[in-house]
Amino acid sequence: MPSRVVCDSGHATRLKREAAIEIAKSGKLSRCGICGKARHFFVRQTYAGEGTGKSNDYEVIRVARLLSDREADAQSYDPMILIMRHDEGYELMWPVFWGRDSKRNWRWGQFGPLLNAKGLRRLSEMALAGR
Ligand SMILES: [Zn+2]
Repeated sequence: MPSRVVCDSGHATRLKREAAIEIAKSGKLSRCGICGKARHFFVRQTYAGEGTGKSNDYEVIRVARLLSDREADAQSYDPMILIMRHDEGYELMWPVFWGRDSKRNWRWGQFGPLLNAKGLRRLSEMALAGR
């Protein structure tokens, strides 16, 4: 799933996990450090089973994060739910995770996060808060 963190002028950053954490903590992304314009976290999804091959673009508008910085660091695992809005106004939730590779760099997990019942319940409640 291609994703990008980019400002209204097109300045992009590769730091997607940091952007997700920033949204989880403050509810929004800080402005672009280069031009000062608003930044956005976009995700493009193409559903193979849909049969249309059509891509849909979403903006990450909220993030529910299960672990604190210290817990994620200790576990080398950082599960979240990205709450994403489509241009047409509907919202979808996408459970994701980042994990550390052998060089201790954070990598976006290819599949959904593995959670116990307590963690899934807590993450879901955070994602559904205010709904
Ligand atoms: Zn910019």
